[in-house]
Amino acid sequence: MIDLVCESGIYTYKFKDISMKRREFVYGAAGIAALAACQEKEQNNSSNDQQSFSWKMVTTWPPNFPGLGTGANNVAKYIESLSGGRIKIQVYAGGELIPPLEVFDAVSSGTAELGHGGSYYWRSKSEAMQFFTCVPFGLNTHEMNAWLYYGGGLELWQEAYRPFNLEPFPAGNTGVQMGGWFNKKINNMEDFRGLKIRMPGLGGEVVRMAGGISVALPGSEIFTALQTGVIDATEWVGPYNDLSFGLDKVAKYYYYPGWHEPGPTLECMVNLDAYNSLPDDLKSIIKVACQAVNMDMTAEYNARNSIALKQIIDDKTVEVIPYPKEVLKELKSLSREVINNLASRDPLVAKVWRSYENFLNNSRHWQQISEQAYIDTTEL
Ligand code: CA
Repeated sequence: MIDLVCESGIYTYKFKDISMKRREFVYGAAGIAALAACQEKEQNNSSNDQQSFSWKMVTTWPPNFPGLGTGANNVAKYIESLSGGRIKIQVYAGGELIPPLEVFDAVSSGTAELGHGGSYYWRSKSEAMQFFTCVPFGLNTHEMNAWLYYGGGLELWQEAYRPFNLEPFPAGNTGVQMGGWFNKKINNMEDFRGLKIRMPGLGGEVVRMAGGISVALPGSEIFTALQTGVIDATEWVGPYNDLSFGLDKVAKYYYYPGWHEPGPTLECMVNLDAYNSLPDDLKSIIKVACQAVNMDMTAEYNARNSIALKQIIDDKTVEVIPYPKEVLKELKSLSREVINNLASRDPLVAKVWRSYENFLNNSRHWQQISEQAYIDTTEL
């Protein structure tokens, strides 16, 4: 039995234990044709290896935005360095090339090859998009990564994005966020009635169902809106980002946990035509760079949030308090109602939610007897 092996442009016949280079052994016309095909393939690979790409990345984040913006910059930096400069990327903050909330359309149309943002910003395209960032009372950071990489979540995300000419990658996670800054205490569900709160996504829908008023505001306007009473409360991210916005100067109470964003995944989206034009090694580099940032961002937030939280507590100007259990129970019940309503109207939401909910139900017991049980030993 003879195996025909193509290595480095040289066609080799392997006959059991004996190996002969083609130059030593020509096997008729078929062998010559195979040699030509082999050499052409090697030349193509070689020219792809040398081809370089100059790409643009648009983001939803303000310029030099710590944490989330750092993540976007790191995706670009890692792709450039891992590819040895074969992909060069110019990063644009929100508003520099296009408005922040036009990232999805810009990458879909090819105006930019890459985008960094959060899939829940694109709910006008499909309500299903929100599930790939976070769901109120849904998966935490560990579980999101498990669902996306090993539970079928990323395949569903691809199914949702590919009709828009986009390839999605998880590319950052803040960890569980904080529940928000308030100027009055939340003792029961009645306290949500008429409350004007900045809370995006499905969490905002839940607040509306509770009788509150969910206000959409970009991050840059939150401080002034809370200071002047345009809003009564706001969520943002966590101690690190919230402190840099000065929210501790304009609110009395800092509530936890962030039930509305238990482990939000950020995204890097790639224009599908641009992605498909890459040789396989560069495709792998994009995937690995995004995975690196997905891990790195959580580590950065955990490190910096701990320090910022200590500062908030030491300053003693703000009370850091938990939501009452009964309030969380009601909010959870409303969250499921919001999601079930969406699933009943939209087949893609129903499909994604089936996968997500099934994963959550299976995962939660393990989380309880592993991460949670371990953290509980802190009190011993
Ligand atoms: Ca948030």
